[in-house]
Amino acid sequence: MPLFVDVALPVPLERAFTYSVNGADAPAVGARVLVPFSGQRLMGVVIRVHSVQPTDGFEIKPVQQVLDDAALLPDELMKLAEWIAQYYVAPLGEVLRGMLPLNAEIRRTLLYRIAEQGRRVLYEGAAKGSSRRSKLTPEDQNKEYAVLNALESGGAVKLTSLRSSTGANKALLEGMVKKRWLTREVEADERDARRLEKIAVLVDDVRLPKLNDNQMKIMVELSAVGGRLRVQDLRSFGVPQSTLATLVKRGLVRVEEATESFHLGGVHAPGKKHAHEHALNETQTEALAGIAAAMSEGGFKPHLLYGITGSGKTAVYFAAMRRMLDAGKASLLLVPEIGLTPAMAGQMHAAFSDEVALLHSQLSPDERAEQWHRIRRGEARIVVGTRSAVFAPVPALGLIIVDEEHDGSYKQEETPRYNGRDVAVMRAKLLGIPVVLGSATPSLESWNNAQNGRYALLKMEQRVMDRPLPAVELVDMRAEFAQTGAENIFSRRLIEETQATLDRGEQAIILLNRRGYSYVVMCRACGDKIECENCAIAMTFHKPVVDSDLHAEPGERLECHYCGYRRTVPKTCPKCQSEHLYYMGAGSQQGEERLQEIFPAARIGRMDRDTVRGRGDMERLLQRLHSGEINLLVGTQMIAKGHDIHGVTTVGVVGCDHALGMPDFRAAERVFQLLTQVSGRAGRGDLPGKVLVQSYHPDHYAVRMAAEHDYLGFARREMQFRRPFFYPPFGVLANVLVQSQELNEALAWSGQLGRWFAGRTVQGVRVLGPAAAPVARLKRIYRFHLLLKAQRRSDLQAGLRAMLQHAEAQGIPRKALVVDVDAISLM
Ligand code: ADP
Ligand code: ZN
Ligand code: ZN
Repeated sequence: MPLFVDVALPVPLERAFTYSVNGADAPAVGARVLVPFSGQRLMGVVIRVHSVQPTDGFEIKPVQQVLDDAALLPDELMKLAEWIAQYYVAPLGEVLRGMLPLNAEIRRTLLYRIAEQGRRVLYEGAAKGSSRRSKLTPEDQNKEYAVLNALESGGAVKLTSLRSSTGANKALLEGMVKKRWLTREVEADERDARRLEKIAVLVDDVRLPKLNDNQMKIMVELSAVGGRLRVQDLRSFGVPQSTLATLVKRGLVRVEEATESFHLGGVHAPGKKHAHEHALNETQTEALAGIAAAMSEGGFKPHLLYGITGSGKTAVYFAAMRRMLDAGKASLLLVPEIGLTPAMAGQMHAAFSDEVALLHSQLSPDERAEQWHRIRRGEARIVVGTRSAVFAPVPALGLIIVDEEHDGSYKQEETPRYNGRDVAVMRAKLLGIPVVLGSATPSLESWNNAQNGRYALLKMEQRVMDRPLPAVELVDMRAEFAQTGAENIFSRRLIEETQATLDRGEQAIILLNRRGYSYVVMCRACGDKIECENCAIAMTFHKPVVDSDLHAEPGERLECHYCGYRRTVPKTCPKCQSEHLYYMGAGSQQGEERLQEIFPAARIGRMDRDTVRGRGDMERLLQRLHSGEINLLVGTQMIAKGHDIHGVTTVGVVGCDHALGMPDFRAAERVFQLLTQVSGRAGRGDLPGKVLVQSYHPDHYAVRMAAEHDYLGFARREMQFRRPFFYPPFGVLANVLVQSQELNEALAWSGQLGRWFAGRTVQGVRVLGPAAAPVARLKRIYRFHLLLKAQRRSDLQAGLRAMLQHAEAQGIPRKALVVDVDAISLM
């Protein structure tokens, strides 16, 4: 009879923990349990049930509660979790935590209990209880006594009831815990994640009576998004609540209740076909045939679908998923963070209606849990989502597709630092099903896999309808400066072409890949830049927004784009008090202002993280672009991602080649991808497109080959550069960050690891560093790093594990070390 379970807990420790169970109700492997762990109750996942008495001498505590009668995670996902833990050298419990919508289902309650010290204070006075002099106000001291009194009986009392009976807030209570007057416990309760929401639905086929402005506004919004909208979303249009009620009374709109799952807006240009409505052309048919062959053969088969921008990849994905559905199987489509636009959602809904489940980062935990359960019950067999959707518990999964497989947002930048694309390939392998990675600019890792035959290569090198790729013109900004003698943001050529585009009644978009107004504020007297208090990063100047109908941005300020810290704009240099502060580097906000001066009649919109914060924002901006209300869009790389706007004929690129100077071997690849993707937004409709790229490095191969639409040439050239250095894809790499709030510690620990590596040969591993990380301080934490390179992955993993063991033996805390296998960001 099993007496023990090994539980993986979400703590940064590379091991499982053993608890005892009552043999009769031992939980299943894959079930969640609540267990005590260093004074807290934690939820973990059972990974082994056994009857082997542990011999390490630790006291074995019993499992407090079994949350699932059966495995919540199927065997397949448990195996995937183990692979991730192994491959990324990450604790299994943390991997599992990321796979479950745990937080949504568990409400954590804080409870406080009086401690020995607290009793002494209560009976003998504070002087006896604490050696430190209290800094508290007399009022707070009274509250502390009230708390101690309320807890005197010894029982645990909830934070909420203590708060109402004594007036003490959480900070005060936590202060008492610090002084050891109280102890704190965390209790977790399960709750039902499902919730209902109200949806306004347009009633079909009714003759419109006379409507007032507010009523009209609602009707227009509703029809613009396909007839369904959450009532909650309608509120943001600033229409009184009674208006909707009136429309319902008049029979024009009805309100339905639905489980919180379906927020498919769906921007759609009138007259434009959905992807699934096109009959596939020859190129698309061939690509589909390749995938379909793998589908009918069965078995693991990875494909790289290299399809240029506008070649119609989405329609191929849809057709493949449709076939799967017809065969009774489910499909999983992963899209980049920004790729799950309302346009994509709308297309999915149009093609697959209720079979679709969406998983994206803007779902609330409750919504995520609801989608998760819907998928698990097999109610949605078309699952579309961003990175973590790769863990969706889809039964009978037959196909996985990763759109824009090169996109950096597939990499999770916190533990476990997995890459959703690579996990997708592994999941397909475990399931024995085909997987398709699609991109116009494949990552060199995937390209290399296709070259050496590990992935089957499918090519789509024609745009749909025989549309040409846009002509790309490079504008040499060195010559521009020499000729004009001025440091202008926009070149004469770009202004000229943009003007002509607007005059013809067409649309233009301009990429300015930094948000804010000026991204550096420098002192002319001492030469220092104004840096964030928390980070070694120059702060960005933001102007207040006067008349944005989209948003009220905060006022004039300096902002740190890494930690979010804001401060008022100083009149003088914080270092030397000089008044000569100099604002350099134009961001998208300045770009918008300048463009409005140059083209006073243009209807300009801006797309960046200041104007696009919620899903609704992106939707409205794109809608205004589709409708032609905006004819000039300026923005950061967000504008480059996948949008299919047929009226855009001209694309301008400003200042994106400074990224070539980044201390990162992928710098050229990133610039190439961005230029290709943003160029791909031009000429997607009936009219041909034109792209102007302003550059200070027009001869750099990344810039030149992007202008020539030469992905193959670029890949060849870039491979030549990486091969001798064993950079991926010719070797594997891990970035190890050593961090601490104390500079001394970070320095000492990284030095210790560096010396350890230097003092031995760790088989097959080469170590660079330690050195200060390019961002040497982030959110008040000092950062050093070591870069590990190896030709064999097993060597890299063994080296990392040996290093972690050494670190543990040396007393370097595990949380001070961030192990980033296949690191994408080396900052
Ligand atoms: P990609 O993702 O490859 O850049 P999309 O999938 O966005 O391209 O498709 C580009 C455009 O072509 C979309 O407007 C799509 O509706 C349209 N399209 C797709 N397939 C066809 C086809 N066979 N004939 C005509 N238009 C098509
Ligand atoms: Zn100064
Ligand atoms: Zn900061």
